[in-house]
Amino acid sequence: MTISVPDVHRRAIVVDGHCDTPYRMLRHNVHLDEHDTEAQADLQSLLAGGVTASFFAAYVPPYYADRGALAFCNRAIELILSETARRSDVLVHCTDAAGIRAAKASGKTAILIGVEGGHAIEDSLDTLRALYKRGARYLTLTHVNTNNWCDSSGDAGRHGGLTRFGQDVVRTMNDLGMIVDVSHVSDNAFYQVLDTTRVPVVATHSSCRALCRHPRNMTDDMLRALAKNGGVCMINFFSAFLRDDVAQAIMAAQKRVKPQGLGGTEELPNDSTDWDDYLVWFNNLGCPIAELDDAADHIVHAAEVAGIEHVGIGSDFDGVPALPRGLQTAATLPALTARLLERGMGEADVEKILGANFVRVFETIEKGHREQKTGDR
Ligand SMILES: [Zn+2]
Repeated sequence: MTISVPDVHRRAIVVDGHCDTPYRMLRHNVHLDEHDTEAQADLQSLLAGGVTASFFAAYVPPYYADRGALAFCNRAIELILSETARRSDVLVHCTDAAGIRAAKASGKTAILIGVEGGHAIEDSLDTLRALYKRGARYLTLTHVNTNNWCDSSGDAGRHGGLTRFGQDVVRTMNDLGMIVDVSHVSDNAFYQVLDTTRVPVVATHSSCRALCRHPRNMTDDMLRALAKNGGVCMINFFSAFLRDDVAQAIMAAQKRVKPQGLGGTEELPNDSTDWDDYLVWFNNLGCPIAELDDAADHIVHAAEVAGIEHVGIGSDFDGVPALPRGLQTAATLPALTARLLERGMGEADVEKILGANFVRVFETIEKGHREQKTGDR
């Protein structure tokens, strides 16, 4: 199947805020350019989809919290760096917005590193700084598990939001010029992060709760607060975050399976169940499949509520078991662009959503870091 690529998609800087491909490569022991029937994003589809920059997640499953989280994180970072170097003919590891622009100019695909799961820093600001030095440009403050300093939306929480140390984490990230990723955090933690940060923050892979009542999604109030902060919400393509009936079905089933688990991989029923079991579990629920228009609906809604300047895309490719029909691999991204145009969105607005908004916010965060440095002297 060939997908026609709209001109604006070719022209645009296309940024994917969150891609779990490293975790798939670790699980399946495959390279990025090797065939894998389960791949939602691989080298071929990233290139075909016109992706300028993708944040590859150095995802740390909650299982590793307080037992080797940093080691697992470093393993994932190592993999991202080596896979990028292995195909330096078409890929380039980037650490800033200028690098994304340069990649676009040279026709390469930029790979950036985002650490997912605040437990990765093992409660140490020095470890956070070390991860930044290794190339990590965001930290998702929690995964589905509450850690020692920040509440997650994936469990009951225990801090009422963000602890004092959690505030230090946010401030240290501001100082470093590292993006604070608020996807996965509890509502309280989200607002407390906004009260703490002095630069915009990003939800790298979150959709809209007004359309789909999953606690992982952003309420309209949160979207407005994020806009006021100057940040960007990058819409997640997982069917359970797009369609309310799918969200309700998996939440009901998770309640039956794990009355009080900490969660595992993205929405995993429990810590010890591996991904293959999860796929079987999810498929057995027989959930309806989302459509391309469901993803477009969330983008349009977020743009209406937060403003067109504050929306982006964060696919969650290779991190979720079900994607919308017509949006099932990175190669299909141009179809989403085409659908937004068909629905009447102007080219300039589509370009903002595809990546310009993110790049603007990234530059503002980097600038905050430079100003901090000058201010120190
Ligand atoms: Zn995630």
